[in-house]
Amino acid sequence: MEVELMKTEIDKVFDLQKTHSLNMRSSTAEERIGLIRKLHDWILNHREDIRKAMYADYRKPYTETDISEIYPVVSEAKHTIKHLKNWMKTKRVPTPVTFLGTKASIQYEPKGSSLIIAPWNYPFNLAICPLVSALSAGCTVMIKPSEMTPHTSALIKEMIGEIFEKNMVCVIEGGLEASQLLLAKPFDHIFFTGSPMVGKIVMRSASDHLGSVTLELGGKSPVIIAPDADLKDAARKIASTKFINCGQTCVAPDFVLVPRSLRDEFVQNLNEAIDTLYVSDGQGVEKSPDYGRIVNERHFNRLNKLVEDACENGATIAKGGKNIPEENFIEPTILTMVKESMEVMEDEIFGPILPVMDYENIDEALNFVNKMPKPLALYAFSKSDKKLGYIFRKTSSGGAVANDCVLHFIHPELPFGGVNNSGIGKSHGHFGFLEFTNQKSLLKQRVGFTAVTPLFPPYNKAKEVLI
Ligand code: NAD
Repeated sequence: MEVELMKTEIDKVFDLQKTHSLNMRSSTAEERIGLIRKLHDWILNHREDIRKAMYADYRKPYTETDISEIYPVVSEAKHTIKHLKNWMKTKRVPTPVTFLGTKASIQYEPKGSSLIIAPWNYPFNLAICPLVSALSAGCTVMIKPSEMTPHTSALIKEMIGEIFEKNMVCVIEGGLEASQLLLAKPFDHIFFTGSPMVGKIVMRSASDHLGSVTLELGGKSPVIIAPDADLKDAARKIASTKFINCGQTCVAPDFVLVPRSLRDEFVQNLNEAIDTLYVSDGQGVEKSPDYGRIVNERHFNRLNKLVEDACENGATIAKGGKNIPEENFIEPTILTMVKESMEVMEDEIFGPILPVMDYENIDEALNFVNKMPKPLALYAFSKSDKKLGYIFRKTSSGGAVANDCVLHFIHPELPFGGVNNSGIGKSHGHFGFLEFTNQKSLLKQRVGFTAVTPLFPPYNKAKEVLI
């Protein structure tokens, strides 16, 4: 779409939604549930279309789309439908003696008009899960899917067009220009998922009109293997969560820290785990129907450069290393002898490359993690609760998992999000509802009465009561 046309469309829809958001303020749980149910049913009736769109975008295997795109959205919708009435109920709070005679409560009112900007790596899940939260809170929504997954973006537009009036939910497709035009509008809330760099741009734009933000960002999520860990179990879980979606997952294990004396045994287990996942009948990973591709040439080149730089500076490829440029294919690749100064240890890898670093004692590993920006997730493997407790108490991360990876993302009762550089605010379930909600405090005084405590002049009485 031409920029001028796009601007006209955005201005028009924004105004329509602003007006409609006032009607939504008093919408009932039943009305909001009705909207979420329509979305839920459309998704179940169009599973094949969703799978095909994502396969066309970057050869995402159908089952992976079921597991990581359709299932999380459907279960988010079901969970919300089940609990929304309860979440929306006005909550009475206790009355302290100084407020005798008053009644106080928290009302959950929609923030109003909202914007969702989504990334490409789980292009359906990360646009539609926040939509469920926005609808549950009673907000109107404009969605900008990622331009890097155009088939999924077009399908999202089609779905929203079939279910919703534009004054309620509308999709604006496009890249940078679309984002910039949208960010210039005074939305009441912006829910952004993407890189920390763009997150800062979003936050700056929101500050122009003091709109609130949820920033779901990324980072280098470490795995710490304690000396008593079950190496085989750890390797199997790390490999399966690292290489799903070709490592293009915000909560994927980014690098592993393992005791020096166990490094070789751990890497051996990791290599075997990769073969079990993707190699059958002696065929290479590129033949596996369960392994996807890198989203585009730019990211393919960026990832190969990371491996080249590491190897030039002394790292060893302990597994993988193969790539096929015509297919944007990169084999699951394990790097050892990795140093902190290498490019691969600078930013989030976001691809199927896993550096394994070693440490002498656990505090050395924890100091290394604490020197980096706070990650989105931290994973620790140990048989000892005491050791796990020590690791989690000594580090800060958006979320943490013991003896597995990534699972916290799909637990419906847990808040999901980062901390500082990996994000601001939380999503999923009740926490997603709260993110799009203004928790309004409402205090009701009796007519003809005022506060029991004298708060106004003359202050000579107040002194006696307050101290
Ligand atoms: P990105 O930040 O490049 O893009 C995200 C969205 O912002 C896209 O819709 C894009 O069009 C838009 N955008 C890009 N540049 C912009 C600009 N200058 N101004 C305004 N909008 C702009 O991220 P990506 O490459 O799509 O996704 C990868 C990143 O997202 C990784 O860092 C990953 O960790 C993170 N991520 C986080 C989560 C989470 O839940 N925390 C989930 C998935 C991905």
